[in-house]
Amino acid sequence: MAISAGVTDPQPSGPAPQVEAVIDLDAVSHNVGVLRAHAGDAAVMVVVKADGYNHGAVEVSRAALAAGARELGVTTVAEAIELRAAGITAPVLCWLNTPDADYPAAIAADIEIGVPSVQHLRAVAAAAAGVGRPATVSIKVDTGLNRNGASPLEYPALLDELVAATRAGTVRLRAIFSHLAHADQPHSPVIDRQRDRFTAAVDAAKQRGLAPELVHLANSAATLTRPDLAFDLVRPGIAVYGLNPVPELGDFGLRPAMSLQTRVALVKRVAAGEGVSYGHEWIAPRDTVVALLPIGYADGVPRALGGRLQVLLGGVRRPNVGRICMDQLVVDLGPEHDEVAVGDTAVLFGSGAAGEPRAQDWADLLSTIHYEVVTGVRGRAVRRHRDDQAG
Ligand SMILES: *Cc1c(COP(=O)(O)O)cnc(C)c1O
Repeated sequence: MAISAGVTDPQPSGPAPQVEAVIDLDAVSHNVGVLRAHAGDAAVMVVVKADGYNHGAVEVSRAALAAGARELGVTTVAEAIELRAAGITAPVLCWLNTPDADYPAAIAADIEIGVPSVQHLRAVAAAAAGVGRPATVSIKVDTGLNRNGASPLEYPALLDELVAATRAGTVRLRAIFSHLAHADQPHSPVIDRQRDRFTAAVDAAKQRGLAPELVHLANSAATLTRPDLAFDLVRPGIAVYGLNPVPELGDFGLRPAMSLQTRVALVKRVAAGEGVSYGHEWIAPRDTVVALLPIGYADGVPRALGGRLQVLLGGVRRPNVGRICMDQLVVDLGPEHDEVAVGDTAVLFGSGAAGEPRAQDWADLLSTIHYEVVTGVRGRAVRRHRDDQAG
């Protein structure tokens, strides 16, 4: 079973789900192509943490690797093991673990381990000694994000420990990497300062006789806007899913992969002057017809969107009226309702190709980012992967 607390994977039989997160794997392949074009000679590591940003880590990984991605990136050992358990043999890096993580399992499954401290490195080396084969590690260096990674004050000690572990044969150094704080502002001077600190950190390792096979720094935003930071490999996440991390800087031809859909559970008449949903925040201004959608905040439709949400239903956008509830919400069809019937599909967000809102539109309304919108889909939403080329 998937690690994610997000959407559910489909059951083999039974009626069609009432709420679906449909994932367009052709869009994923297309987006990997866009990113490869921007990466130049650098390889592409596709980030599939958090169950592939809630798109399905295994399915996204397979589609991305088939489209020319070289490696995969996740946070935890457990996420990496899930990819191996699905038969994926490409290089996998995991970079966010407590030192008591199941490093022996990671080493046995040939998973590369991101190491941010001496304490972590010692735990990895001890696990390698136990398993009886060297661990492959990548050193995470903090160049100014001040989140994960070895700070400049601690980095020299980490290099000392790494030299010792390499000599002892418990550890093999694969890469040195870092993460940007201002990647979505490509002209920020912070980016250049991080680049300079990063190259200095790589030089310091080389001066100790360490020889990383690769160095990498760029996430999606940097891959798209700062080709000078591609180094040997880029690490895009969000853009693989077709969501643009820098929408104000252009379109880049990305195609959103996730579409959130539900089916009309009930169509009914509401008389003028009647209030709709809890608290009667919307009063029907005229006799009208409404559709009840069996999706609510427990499924990842934020309650804060109440009265501001639109859905694509019967070929046009319709407004949500009244409060969004845990399990359901109401849309106004207007007095002329002939084109909508029970069972019809309503699209809450998607690629925008048919006129439906995008995750970006929700993010704008909510003053957040689309990362949070797509990873927030959960509850009764069942995931379905679509691959038009395969039929
Ligand atoms: C999540 C993450 C990425 C990918 O970031 P996007 O903005 O989604 O492209 C890359 N590197 C690290 C270390 C990350 O945590």
